[in-house]
Amino acid sequence: TDISKIRNFSIIAHIDHGKSTLADRLIQATGGLTAREMTGNAQVLDNMEIERERGITIKAQTVRLNWKGYELNLMDTPGHVDFAYEVSRSLAACEGALLVVDAAQGVEAQTLANVYQSIEHDHEIVPVINKVDLPSADPEGVRQEIEEIIGLDASQAVLASAKTGIGIEEVLDAIVERIPPPKGDAAAPLKAMLVDSWYDPYLGVVILVRVIDGTLKHGQQVKFMAAGTTHLVDRVGCFTPKRTDLPELGPGEIGFITAQIKEVAETRVGDTITDAKRPAAEALPGFKLVQPVVFCGLFPTDAADFEKLRDSLYKLRLNDASFSFEMETSAALGFGFRCGFLGLLHLEIIQERLTREYDLDLITTAPSVVYEVHLRGGEVRSIHNPADWPDANAIESVEEPWIEATIYMPDEYLGSVLKLCQDRRGVQKNLTYVGTGAHARAQLTYELPLNEVVFDFYDRLKSISRGYASFDYHQVGHRPGDLVKMSIMVNGEPVDALSMIVDRANAEARGRGMCERLKDLIPRHLFKIPIQAAIGGKIIARETIGALRKDVTAKCYGGDATRKRKLLEKQKKGKARMREYGSVSIPQEAFIAALRMG
Ligand code: GDP
Ligand code: MG
Repeated sequence: TDISKIRNFSIIAHIDHGKSTLADRLIQATGGLTAREMTGNAQVLDNMEIERERGITIKAQTVRLNWKGYELNLMDTPGHVDFAYEVSRSLAACEGALLVVDAAQGVEAQTLANVYQSIEHDHEIVPVINKVDLPSADPEGVRQEIEEIIGLDASQAVLASAKTGIGIEEVLDAIVERIPPPKGDAAAPLKAMLVDSWYDPYLGVVILVRVIDGTLKHGQQVKFMAAGTTHLVDRVGCFTPKRTDLPELGPGEIGFITAQIKEVAETRVGDTITDAKRPAAEALPGFKLVQPVVFCGLFPTDAADFEKLRDSLYKLRLNDASFSFEMETSAALGFGFRCGFLGLLHLEIIQERLTREYDLDLITTAPSVVYEVHLRGGEVRSIHNPADWPDANAIESVEEPWIEATIYMPDEYLGSVLKLCQDRRGVQKNLTYVGTGAHARAQLTYELPLNEVVFDFYDRLKSISRGYASFDYHQVGHRPGDLVKMSIMVNGEPVDALSMIVDRANAEARGRGMCERLKDLIPRHLFKIPIQAAIGGKIIARETIGALRKDVTAKCYGGDATRKRKLLEKQKKGKARMREYGSVSIPQEAFIAALRMG
């Protein structure tokens, strides 16, 4: 393809502003699929069930469109902060972006975060004000917001409705006219960026690439520069969105290759693919190895499901190189796995898929971030499992990861949000107001320790703002913290799944909250049950569950044999979902519930 006729772009939008619907419309308008192929409730670009339900896109997919003799490559980017690095590589593969803003909702936090990233990649940004068909649409107000908040010239914004089809041709024309063609040298040695990869049961690992220089061909021996591996390209093509084989991909083009690769883990997003015989002198800039930042233990409720859990984790990992797992044994929970994730949403997705697609009942231990623990001898350890926390006397100092969060909300919720951030050791960086009238929003920037955010910050934020606050974050490195390991003991026995690393100043309040919640969550037994929170050997909080009086049960059920049998059966069934600690049965639900902060 003539490089001057190529346009590479992505779509940036806050969740629900219409990115997927618009993408479908563009595919339809350019003839990529017939109307019949478009029908059905599944959006073409959102593949997996969970993505559809949550309305987010996890795996990038790219589609080639033909419009008036131009080759348009639409790059679908993941929509969540946890996948920030993948997003950055997708953006690096494009020269422009459509900025989709809901005409009734206006600019939201994720719009901002994504648009700034897009600007950093020198993109030409084409604003599209979508959903103009809605009675509540206020395109003029939103146009002003785009100018005031983002600082983009929105006088040429395209007014569109992805639902009714208004403005779709204008969007396509604007892509051709305003987004610049890529630059590249066909004669130079091959240099292509590995943008994404996924596992396909028929093809093996499929790799999405953006060719920068040179040509990528079928039968070529290629080298992955960061991974240091060599592969034979056995298929080259693009998606229209149907898979279409091509003889080659030239400079500026986006497409896919396969090279008999078995596991996604062998491919690294951001790697440079070059010709093995005539390699490029240097790799593309910006390569980064993504590392999990949030860890937790996953244990089968029923110990007999261990093998099934392991097989399921292997299957999930086939398609997701960014999540890690290793075997873990816990005194109380038995055999399970310590798993690492890119963030909380990533954790939730994996957990949900294990439960739903693989039908597993799981106990999840408290999520933990990665601490840098400096020991007195000078040794530094990265620790993400409270079980590995060194003895307090051996610790010189501890550093914990911090994030910078941007929260965006209607003014009326500001007070509660400030309090939440303050309670979570946040440091306020900035507070500004943007927009006017019905569109007025407070924009709050806070620095927060990641460990205060991992469990339920997002849930809390949504509930105190009735769903109106949006949240976005990036990491800003490790900082010193006064952190200690808090253990929870039930009937004198430590419940390892509930131990966690906490800020010393908050430890007592956290411990008290945990004990109080556990008191309500653990059913009475025939004996008194002390519940204690401790740091080292020191008890910092305590509650007691009173004993159940034997004669009460006897009296209640004594006379009625059927009822008694039923009760016994019910108890037996419930057993599988209980865990024994120092002869106390703790219901599965109690583990998660206890970790939620009041
Ligand atoms: P995404 O999260 O940005 O991918 O958003 P979707 O494309 O999934 O759209 C979110 C919701 O908005 C869906 O219910 C769409 O049907 C609806 N939607 C998208 N575009 C329009 C539009 O132009 N007008 C109206 N009325 N609804 C739209
Ligand atoms: Mg979508």
